[in-house]
Amino acid sequence: MIEENRRVVIIGGGITGLSAAYYLQKESKEKNVNIEITLIEASNRLGGKIQTIRKNGFTIERGPDSFLARKQSAGRLVKEVGLEDQLIHNSTGQAYILLKGELHPMPEGAVMGIPTKLSPFVTTGLFSPIGKMRAAADLILPASKKTGDDQSLGSFFRRRLGDEVVDNLIEPLLSGIYAGDIDKLSLEATFPQFQQVEEKYRSLILGMKQSSPKQQSASSQKKKGMFQTLKGGLQTLVDALEEKLDEVAFLKAVKVEKIEKTNVEHYRLSLSNGSIIECDSVVVATPHHATANLIPSADYLSPLQKMKSTTVATVAMAFDESALKNDIDGTGFVVSRNNDYTITACTWTHKKWPHTTPEGKVILRCYVGRSGEEAIVDQSDEEIKKVVLDDLNKIMEITTDPEFTIITRWREAMPQYAVGHKKMLREVNERLAKDMPGIYIAGSSFEGVGLPDCINSGEAAVKAILTRWNK
Ligand code: FAD
Repeated sequence: MIEENRRVVIIGGGITGLSAAYYLQKESKEKNVNIEITLIEASNRLGGKIQTIRKNGFTIERGPDSFLARKQSAGRLVKEVGLEDQLIHNSTGQAYILLKGELHPMPEGAVMGIPTKLSPFVTTGLFSPIGKMRAAADLILPASKKTGDDQSLGSFFRRRLGDEVVDNLIEPLLSGIYAGDIDKLSLEATFPQFQQVEEKYRSLILGMKQSSPKQQSASSQKKKGMFQTLKGGLQTLVDALEEKLDEVAFLKAVKVEKIEKTNVEHYRLSLSNGSIIECDSVVVATPHHATANLIPSADYLSPLQKMKSTTVATVAMAFDESALKNDIDGTGFVVSRNNDYTITACTWTHKKWPHTTPEGKVILRCYVGRSGEEAIVDQSDEEIKKVVLDDLNKIMEITTDPEFTIITRWREAMPQYAVGHKKMLREVNERLAKDMPGIYIAGSSFEGVGLPDCINSGEAAVKAILTRWNK
């Protein structure tokens, strides 16, 4: 039974903090218990990395543009706040890999780069005959011995499929999610399902073939896209959440500087405006460096200080459609490191998300920066714009300058789950639970970077608080 008048502070007004606030308020209303909720956000706006702008009839996302539909927490939250009718899937189309200056269609049947159909892999120009033979060795290679140890995504995929498939296909695809170094990222923390496939089926190719949902036949209706977004942009979810959170006290443009324990399960928060807040429980929904800084007394949070993040920038360029002489049929491409290109990916947003773009116009949204290639983000807007246009021109023949360009720098914004991440997180959480029971860390730095993962993590923190109180 929850005692009356509990007070919870949520630090960070990104999607994680907002989800925590939403599910806590919901619980307090449904169970009719009085939980006082305060959400403190350092900037003057909510949403964190979600930032939609509207300009000249375009809807442009500075950060995330969509979420994976199969991870259900995002769609569920959208429905809960009444935006179900605004949900849309992406338009499907050909995706490409840029390798050695040439666009290659993504081989049909590739699941995260793992072949599940033979002929597209035999015919693709992405790999040499030797590279293809090496990938086929997956069919006969034994499974690795189960050690329980984590390993890098790179070492796992290189062992199964060889370097060419990793460098020319898997790495650029993963780069789009983590902007990271495939040889450092943890398999256990990012794609544990691939290890499970190896354990169960031995061969990744055979295992993925059996475990992937069957492709729709050509005669069946047009395939639904894997991603979803909201017609008015993801910011509409943030705005709807803010409106629904009618029992939450928001403090914006105020930073939490320190969390201290005053008593058993009682905490004091020092804020940048000089005030102090006392509470029973805290959800810390900030990026990991900020999280570690908030509790200076907790030396066991030092692994969070050491955890790396990558810096990237998104560059959205709007054109009249007549400006593109070589308009390629498709939705975009990712760039292999085996290129002298600076952009790492480009979405033809007007094709993937037609609702974002006025008739007769085009919007190209590119990424620059990834692990080991971050210096470009420090260049001036003019320099970034020039570099991106030069790269695009090698492929698309663009005849005019963009009507406008929106560059958004995301410094240290993509958390890198290094080998051993899960073990590190378990240890941190165990020590935190002993030392500061009632404080929970949540957000993209820990259990998944995608928006649905962040929503899950906010909700999980709420469940942990309530379980503790109900004991
Ligand atoms: P944040 O959004 O970073 O929010 C944390 C908040 O904490 C911030 O608002 C910050 O101001 C606040 N804060 C920090 N310190 C303090 C303090 N001391 N006191 C008070 N407040 C503080 N995911 C997808 O699913 N799909 C995509 O298409 C996608 N694309 C992406 C593109 C880019 C360029 C980036 C950077 C990320 C993308 N992601 C995508 C990942 C996803 O956007 C993030 O993982 C997610 O938005 C993080 O949410 P969060 O609430 O955990 O953190």
